[in-house]
Amino acid sequence: MRFDRLRLNGFKSFVDPTDLVIREGLTGVVGPNGCGKSNLLEALRWVMGENRPTAMRGAGMEDVIFAGTSRRSARGHAEVSLGVDNRDRLAPAGFNDEDHFDIVRRITRDAGSAYKIGGKEVRARDVQMLFADASTGAHSPALVRQGQISELINAKPRSRRRILEEAAGISGLYQRRHEAELKLNGAEMNLTRVDDTLDQLSAQAASLARQARAAAKYREIGAALRLAEGVLLYRRWAEAEAARLAAAEALAAAVKTAGEAELASRLAGARREEAEAALPALREEEQVAAAIRQRLAVEREALDEAEARAADAVRALVARIAQLDRDIDREDALNRDAGEVVERLAWERTELDKAGRGHDDRLDAAAARADEAAESLREVEARLAELTDES
Ligand code: ATP
Repeated sequence: MRFDRLRLNGFKSFVDPTDLVIREGLTGVVGPNGCGKSNLLEALRWVMGENRPTAMRGAGMEDVIFAGTSRRSARGHAEVSLGVDNRDRLAPAGFNDEDHFDIVRRITRDAGSAYKIGGKEVRARDVQMLFADASTGAHSPALVRQGQISELINAKPRSRRRILEEAAGISGLYQRRHEAELKLNGAEMNLTRVDDTLDQLSAQAASLARQARAAAKYREIGAALRLAEGVLLYRRWAEAEAARLAAAEALAAAVKTAGEAELASRLAGARREEAEAALPALREEEQVAAAIRQRLAVEREALDEAEARAADAVRALVARIAQLDRDIDREDALNRDAGEVVERLAWERTELDKAGRGHDDRLDAAAARADEAAESLREVEARLAELTDES
């Protein structure tokens, strides 16, 4: 791969389109300090896909855009184009159809970089791989910056090996091997994921088979359920129809009963009116009857009291009679005693008379005893008279 031109437009100090023509043989750039020599090498690295702003001596990649001066305003984009002479068809496959093609990188503020090869938009990775296959690139040791020679002399064997591999043209193979390893790792990870997915799918398939069996059973049960529901609904309908007919009959009977009740109500109303018409006379009779009843109650109370008093009097008279009976018995006993005394006195008088005939003294004594007996008899008779009066 041979470069024949480097065109800069708005890149760093190259605000105007500038071509660096690279002819056969040795091409050199000579100029004073700060004229932009290093900017040319950075433009070459940049168009090859350099992504580190520090490699461009900036804080951000947009620092490569012309920042303006006191006389010129800043630009909004920068572009570097690298012309490749491909007449010997040494370019990598895919870009080997033309004798000449341009590799272009353009950066726009706030929009990032865009790449083109042969006028077609490509990825940064495609540009990097193109230069890697050509054993060069932004990081190629062939691009020697200031002070890099001394760094190479003091470099470690590993870094020297890179230089030798690049000189042998196999650095692109390492790059591709690295990418192939990445792809292989990715494919292995994908295979692992596919295995996991297969496991998940088999588990899902088993679950779905179970669900399908359950769904079939559900359909069978659903059909039986619908049939049972139909039968149930028909039975309910039949029962409801029978209930409706019964209700209609009951309604008719109720209407008939209501008519009869209404008639009875009317009759009762008429009777009530009659009764209400007769009510004042009955009320008057009721008041009279109540007064009579009250009077009878009072009389009855008086009679009850009189009866009680009569009963008390009867009880007292019965007690009195009993007492008199007892007194009569006692007086009878006294009478008997008095009779016996009179008989004894009479006997004694007789005896005295017999004895008196001869004895005046005994006659006087007997007369005295007779007086005493008469006196006792009078007392007894007086007592008897009192008792008789008391009874
Ligand atoms: P030396 O020989 O001392 O290394 P040089 O010739 O390599 O110098 P460069 O370092 O390539 O010069 O260029 C530096 C110049 O580029 C400075 O004048 C700087 O102002 C200018 N420059 C760098 N970046 C920009 C930018 N974004 N916009 C405008 N000018 C820039």
